[in-house]
Amino acid sequence: MTSAAAPKPYSPAQRLETLLGSKGSLAAHLPGFVHRPEQVALAHAVETALAQGRPCLAEAGTGVGKTLAYLVPLVRWLEKHGGRAVISTHTLALQAQLINRDIPTLLEALPELEIQAAALKGRSNFLCLQDLDVTAGELWTQGDPQFAQIRRWANETDTGDVAELDFTFPDWQEIAANPDTCRQRECRYFERCFYFKARKAAEECQLLVVNHALFFADLRLRRANPGGPTLIPPYDAVVFDEAHHIEDMATRAFGLEFGSRRVTQLTARARRVPGAVDPARLASLEALNQVVFDPFLSAPQPEAFLHELIRADADRAAFDSRVAELSAGLGALAKDLTVAADNASDTTIRDRAAGLAPTRFPPRHRNSGSNEGGGRGSPC
Ligand code: SF4
Repeated sequence: MTSAAAPKPYSPAQRLETLLGSKGSLAAHLPGFVHRPEQVALAHAVETALAQGRPCLAEAGTGVGKTLAYLVPLVRWLEKHGGRAVISTHTLALQAQLINRDIPTLLEALPELEIQAAALKGRSNFLCLQDLDVTAGELWTQGDPQFAQIRRWANETDTGDVAELDFTFPDWQEIAANPDTCRQRECRYFERCFYFKARKAAEECQLLVVNHALFFADLRLRRANPGGPTLIPPYDAVVFDEAHHIEDMATRAFGLEFGSRRVTQLTARARRVPGAVDPARLASLEALNQVVFDPFLSAPQPEAFLHELIRADADRAAFDSRVAELSAGLGALAKDLTVAADNASDTTIRDRAAGLAPTRFPPRHRNSGSNEGGGRGSPC
C-alpha cells in the first residue's frame, strides 16, 4: 500500500493540467514555475497532433513557456510510443539551453521517465584530432599560444566542441572536422573522434536536439540518396523551435552554392602536402577559380541566383565552359593527390593527401553553418 506521503507515480494517462498545474509535479520541482493556461493549451495542441500524427503550427508569445509546452507532451509521447524525437532550433544558444538546462530539469521532475537526450551539432563544430596532428607540424602553428592551448584542451575535453573554448581561434577551420580530410573508419583517431562520438550518442538517445542547418542538410542528403548515409539518425517526430527561420534554412539547404573560397581552401591545403602537387597546377587552378567567380564578386549583390547574375545565353555558355575547365583541373589535382598518397612513406602526408583527393567541385549544396554538404558526400 502506498503511503499518503509518497509521491504519486506518473501515469501516461495523467492529465496535462495536473502536470503543468500549480500543484503538479513540475511546480514541485521547478523553481519559479507558474501555472499558465496558455501553456497548457499549447501542450494540449502538441499532444493531440502527436497522437493523431499530424502537424501542429503554433505561435507562442513571450512568457507562455513554450519549451515546456512542447517538451512535456513530447516526452510523454516517447514514453508511450518509443522511437526518437528531434527538436530543431535555429541558434546554438537555444540548443545549449535545451540540452544543458530545460531537458535535464524536466527529466529530474519526472524521474519515472527513462529518456536519454543528446545534442548533435554540425561537423565543423568539432575538433579533428587528425588535422590537429597534421597542423602541429606546420610552421604557422609553431609558437602560437592559442594553438598550444588547443593542443592541451584536446587532451582534456570530452566533447571537442569549439563552444568550450573561451577564445576565438582564427584558423579553427584548419583543425575542425570536415568532410574533405576526414578518413572516417580509416582514421587512426576514429575511436577517439569527437564528431563520431557525438553521432554515436545521437544514435543511442530518444530525444535529440539539433539545429536547423543540420536538420535540413540531413533532409537534403536523404532526398539525394534515399537509404544512404544520413547526418541525423532516424526519427519519428520533430519539433521546430524558432521556426520562423526554417524557410530561409530550407532554401539554403536545397539551393546550390558556388563558394569562391572552396577552391582556394583546397589549394592551400594541397600546398601543405610536401611534394604532392606541382605548384604551377595550384596557381593555375586559383587563377581559373578567380575567372569563374568574377561575375559574382563584381556583382552589386553577390548573394543571388545564377540566372539573375548571368542572363545572356552566351555568357551562361562561357560560364559553364569555365566551370567545366575548373572541374577538370580539380580532377587532375585529385589524381596527383591520390598518387602522392600511394607513394608517401610518411603517414601524415599519406593521410592528408588521401583525405584531400576526393574533394569535389562544383556544384555544392548550400549548407551554411553545419559544413556537411561538400566533400565526399558520404559524411559518416
Ligand atoms: S575520424 Fe575524421 S573527424 Fe574524426 S579525427 Fe579522424 S579525420 Fe578527424
